Amino acid sequence: QRKHKLAVVGSGNWGTAIAKIVAENAASNPDLFEETVEMWVYEETVEVPKDSKNYDPSYAGPQKLTEVINRTHENIKYLPEVQLPVNLHANPSLEDTVKDGTILIFNLPHQFIIKTCEQIKGKILPYARGISCIKGVDVNESGINLFSETIGKTLGIYCGALSGANIANEVAREKWSETSVAYDPPHMDSKAPTPQRSPSSSQTNLVEFQHKDVSGKISDTKLQALPSAYPPVDHAVLKAVFHRPYFHVRVVNDVAGVSISGALKNVVALAAGWVVGMGWGDNAKAAVMRVGLMEMVKFGDQFFSATIDQRTFTDESAGVADLITSCSGGRNFRCAMHSVERNLPIEEIEKTELNGQKLQGTLTAYEVNSFLKNQGMEDQFPLFTAVYRILEGTMKVEDIPNFIER
Ligand code: NAD
Ligand code: 13P
Ligand code: CA
Repeated sequence: QRKHKLAVVGSGNWGTAIAKIVAENAASNPDLFEETVEMWVYEETVEVPKDSKNYDPSYAGPQKLTEVINRTHENIKYLPEVQLPVNLHANPSLEDTVKDGTILIFNLPHQFIIKTCEQIKGKILPYARGISCIKGVDVNESGINLFSETIGKTLGIYCGALSGANIANEVAREKWSETSVAYDPPHMDSKAPTPQRSPSSSQTNLVEFQHKDVSGKISDTKLQALPSAYPPVDHAVLKAVFHRPYFHVRVVNDVAGVSISGALKNVVALAAGWVVGMGWGDNAKAAVMRVGLMEMVKFGDQFFSATIDQRTFTDESAGVADLITSCSGGRNFRCAMHSVERNLPIEEIEKTELNGQKLQGTLTAYEVNSFLKNQGMEDQFPLFTAVYRILEGTMKVEDIPNFIER
């Protein structure tokens, strides 16, 4: 029996919090997982403060972030004041981080994921499996894709998704929360033959099948079988990867529902922040959330109806629960609120308040709008359209109530 090797691509606020969870589980499941978990860090120089009680004063000054994490077991830039497990290794090399990982966890701001995947294409185990923790959608000329699908297609692997009501700073402090993991691979890994290691024989382990993607398109696909020496990557193994006493995981099949709600709630959270910034109060915020949820459900129904399960929006953490937490203490919500209160563009608040962390709702609002425009459907999603126009400066927050009324 071989053990799974877990690797995390990304080390921001959520990337580091998820890496902490995964490393804790690697350490506590030695039969299933290799102990060391690699975490790719987009290397940068950070300033180690003089007054820290965690390290001696001689270490103060500019240092490489990976070195700081490996020495102090703290990501002082993106997740300060949280102790990380000693079996979590910060790695500045993307290729080295993923090269022997059998379960790859992608956790980056969505604008960086395609470039990152291009760099590791062909440099991972062909039978690796992936989980995307990214909240965003991939919009291009050909339409809209989930990041789980974009990652899977780029790397030639199957990739599922993790999303939920999970403010990273709370999860990292081990305050209880729930999450949704969605995983619905096209064939059972456990039925696959054991491949040899040579490239020619590995070809014989390509399992061909007809795959219906999340939007219902059927195509012939090839997927490399997981060697039978490994425990199959199934719902139970994924639960072992992510579930903690303070982080309760439900594994479901609805990859589209889990991913779409995680992406679109960021757009709704901007509107919620703006109306609160206006001083309009909780009733106004609830109204925006009501319409936002309706549009999230409608969007899923309209573009992913082949596979989406509407119950995900109500019954799973990735749905309305994430919308609620994001419209309470999320970064998109807070930055939008401050931008109205201080009368500054949200990009400026993002730069001055987030210390390098990235908003996802602003870019997603543009991407969703360009997709809806192409479909000729802007008017059927008035809240999403209003958020885009307010960001563009062609509409005002004051216009929201009449604009979304039907
Ligand atoms: P973040 O907002 O902390 O972003 C900072 C990260 O981006 C850093 O690791 C930085 O090194 C990296 N980065 C900057 N420029 C880069 C580049 N050119 N190439 C590659 N990486 C670069 O990131 P996060 O909070 O870890 O968010 C990752 C995903 O998780 C997002 O899609 C987000 O919506 C989602 N998410 C976040 C939270 C949260 O509370 N933070 C919770 C749930 C989901
Ligand atoms: P923000 O990116 O707006 O902070 O949202 C975090 C989140 O996704 C909570 O589930
Ligand atoms: Ca299936």
